[in-house]
Amino acid sequence: MEATRNNIPIVDLHCHLDLFPDHVELVHECEQKAIRVLSVTTTPRAWPWNRDLNANSRYVRVGLGFHPEIVAERPDEIKLFERYSYEARYIGEIGIDGRPANRHSYELQRKVFERVLDICAEQGGKILTVHSASAVTPVIDSLEKHFPTSRGHVILHWFSGNLSELQRAKKLGCYFSVNPAMLRSKRGRDIVASIPQERMLTESDGPFLTVEGRPARPSDVFIALRELGTLIGKSPEEVSSIVLRNLRKLVS
Ligand code: MN
Repeated sequence: MEATRNNIPIVDLHCHLDLFPDHVELVHECEQKAIRVLSVTTTPRAWPWNRDLNANSRYVRVGLGFHPEIVAERPDEIKLFERYSYEARYIGEIGIDGRPANRHSYELQRKVFERVLDICAEQGGKILTVHSASAVTPVIDSLEKHFPTSRGHVILHWFSGNLSELQRAKKLGCYFSVNPAMLRSKRGRDIVASIPQERMLTESDGPFLTVEGRPARPSDVFIALRELGTLIGKSPEEVSSIVLRNLRKLVS
């Protein structure tokens, strides 16, 4: 709430609004406070009602997603993904998850991710928000092979790779959406400090990410603005202007 009290524009490029119990109220709150949100979905099946709920939103956009941790439960939904893809400009959450709990489905995840990239590349003009937990190198490999940079924009959400992976992603033109959790460790801050300012975006990843022991909400992006500011020697207002400028470039 601090953010809106100070009237600093908030941009949340990765939030699961539909997973909050007070989802509808949260959408209204974002509208009223002019918080710009990309509300990502985790299954293609969730697209139609999310799309309809936000059809008249000024500030909330919806992404058509197929979350890597869910792909193995419902691989057939790739057909639904393809069908809805024609109406979606924003795509996500998509990607690959290489953490031990999801390694059993790794090959399937990669196959589905690359199919998603092919569909998006063919249509062009889409903006993707991509998950790469413990799978940054394979995600970048897939992007290189299946998503030519001229076919759309890629935002790496909650980037947790190393410096050489960051260099590769930069070369591919990727943007990076930074959340408060990424700035908690020294390693995280060191990586974030290497993101070029013209590729920097912000996110909450609520409700999965928690702040102060509760699910993060879009307004909590203010914490990321404040911490980013401390890191790069700017005020939260200045960081907010940078992010807003990057968002405008991304969607124009
Ligand atoms: Mn997420």
